[in-house]
Amino acid sequence: MTDAAANLIELTGIERVFHLGDSEVRALRRITLSIAHGEYVAIMGPSGSGKSTLLNLLGLLDRPDAGTYRLEQRDVTTLSPEEQARVRSERIGFVFQSFHLVPRLTAAENIALPMMLAGIAPAERSRRVAKALRDYGLDDRAHHRPDQLSGGQRQRVAIARATVMRPAVLLADEPTGNLDRATGEEVMRLLEELNRQGVTLLVVTHDQTLGARARRQLAMEDGAITNDSGSALTLAGNSSRPA
Ligand code: ADP
Ligand code: MG
Repeated sequence: MTDAAANLIELTGIERVFHLGDSEVRALRRITLSIAHGEYVAIMGPSGSGKSTLLNLLGLLDRPDAGTYRLEQRDVTTLSPEEQARVRSERIGFVFQSFHLVPRLTAAENIALPMMLAGIAPAERSRRVAKALRDYGLDDRAHHRPDQLSGGQRQRVAIARATVMRPAVLLADEPTGNLDRATGEEVMRLLEELNRQGVTLLVVTHDQTLGARARRQLAMEDGAITNDSGSALTLAGNSSRPA
């Protein structure tokens, strides 16, 4: 897939302004960005530079004030909230720094939640939950609630939940931010394995070492992309990995 038209994500002239009383914060300024299917991108930059705002927009958790967002060739900027929720549910997985699991639900129930909301039949649901628990080494934690799990186990539940609908893109906002180094390493390896299987992976991190592992690095400063190491996948004739 070296054809630009086949890009998974196309952002053009994206602006996001927050109003706080009399002052305004330009959280995103003229962001134009293409991401191809299967890429692994790290987004880096100081606190307040707009990384989470960008990820939230990509995840359809927020809307831009100007500009266009195309996901899989489709303009998703102008969709109704219901249509956006559907795209989010079917195409996008989100992993957060603080896990965002539902406290009252067990690990298995948290993983099943996106499929319940999407109306997947119970038999298929159980099958996929069982497989996810097995794949993520959570078999013996299936009936534990989040407060009965370690940080690493919680993030594994969150990753299972984010991928159980088989999304095209996985957005991770500082996924290792609340984990010790060894556990963070394990979580990054899981995300990278998903990328090897074909999921497009965008990871926000302010850890240079983690960011360097991605095939492409984006640097943000003050709401703008100040450096882009470039997409290996979209450089013609330079297919370092199979599409
Ligand atoms: P980062 O994730 O890089 O630390 P953010 O995207 O969270 O940065 O924030 C970018 C800028 O936008 C910051 O100045 C932040 O204070 C501001 N901001 C983010 N979200 C909101 C909001 N909901 N209301 C007002 N200002 C916000
Ligand atoms: Mg942030």
